[in-house]
Amino acid sequence: MRKKIVAGNWKMNNNKTETEALIAALSTKGSFSGVAVKIAPTSIHLSHAVEALSDSAIEVIGQNMHQAENGAYTGEISASMLQSVGVNSVILGHSERRAYFNETDEALAEKVSTAVTHDMEVVFCFGEELEDRKAERHFEVVERQLRKGLFHLEAAAWKTIVLAYEPVWAIGTGETASPEQAQEMHAFIRSLIEKVYGEAVADNVSILYGGSVKPANAQEIFSKPDVDGGLIGGAALNADDFFAIVQSI
Ligand code: PEP
Repeated sequence: MRKKIVAGNWKMNNNKTETEALIAALSTKGSFSGVAVKIAPTSIHLSHAVEALSDSAIEVIGQNMHQAENGAYTGEISASMLQSVGVNSVILGHSERRAYFNETDEALAEKVSTAVTHDMEVVFCFGEELEDRKAERHFEVVERQLRKGLFHLEAAAWKTIVLAYEPVWAIGTGETASPEQAQEMHAFIRSLIEKVYGEAVADNVSILYGGSVKPANAQEIFSKPDVDGGLIGGAALNADDFFAIVQSI
């Protein structure tokens, strides 16, 4: 059965003091059930976050990793480095990584393979730009990103894959895809996976929506049958807002 998930991507926000304060605020929030809650602080604070949340059900995940096992890749972090501090899940393919750090579909396919080899969960992000949507190419773009980034995997590997559909035009812009637009795309994605991998894989994969999700719109988006939760950027930086979103599921 597929999981409900709400994950917060903190991006390049929060110094040590701010990280400690946000984790402390999250820890005081009540319990939650039926939903997996994850946070992705910046890599320098992962170790602290894992320790600080060791008694909590909140899982700490990475924002990115390199595809190589180790070596001369200045500034990068590897799968085994993440795992050595207790991080077993990683966001890959975020549109900011694709746009500002030139992450290609090919590099992402390699990163995904490395994560799978390490038995790590992958929160794989993809989504169309505004011009793609305007030109009605959004299904085509999403299909290409999925085929190139993920469809080299064997069916068995899909048990550790989480999808995050994030239309680029809705990220950090205050512009949200309507619940109907989100559902339409999520249903398309699930049917594509069914065609390639069969019904069991398609039914079991969680597909998150990301793009300006807030307490005010979360419930309506999450109520759609193919939306299994959200990847949250801006609103994840405030414990009250993030938990209001978690409770909307
Ligand atoms: C994100 O960056 O993954 C994201 C969804 O950001 P925001 O919620 O701020 O649009």
